[in-house]
Amino acid sequence: MKEMAEMLRKGAKMLSMHCPECGTPLFQLKNGEIFCPHEKREVKIVKDGEDSEKAKREASLDRTLQSKLQLLQERLDVSTDPTEIRELTQTITVLLDALNRQKA
Ligand SMILES: [Zn+2]
Repeated sequence: MKEMAEMLRKGAKMLSMHCPECGTPLFQLKNGEIFCPHEKREVKIVKDGEDSEKAKREASLDRTLQSKLQLLQERLDVSTDPTEIRELTQTITVLLDALNRQKA
């Protein structure tokens, strides 16, 4: 509930659709993105005729990229070794790039 109140406070619009993963009511952000306030991620709505398998694959790749990003961020947080910091930063950049391409 708190998450939904937060979304409304930010000016998002509550939709009549529910998240296919967790069942939470979906919100449309000001930039038009459909967002699940519970999982805090963008939800791709599959319109009639669109390839639902493709959308599922994209959603799963999105989740994988996000979880790897989080893992690397935690390691970067504690790392003091310059070589490791550089490697982690480069990998994070690649993952962010992949995420952006995924969204484009
Ligand atoms: Zn959800």
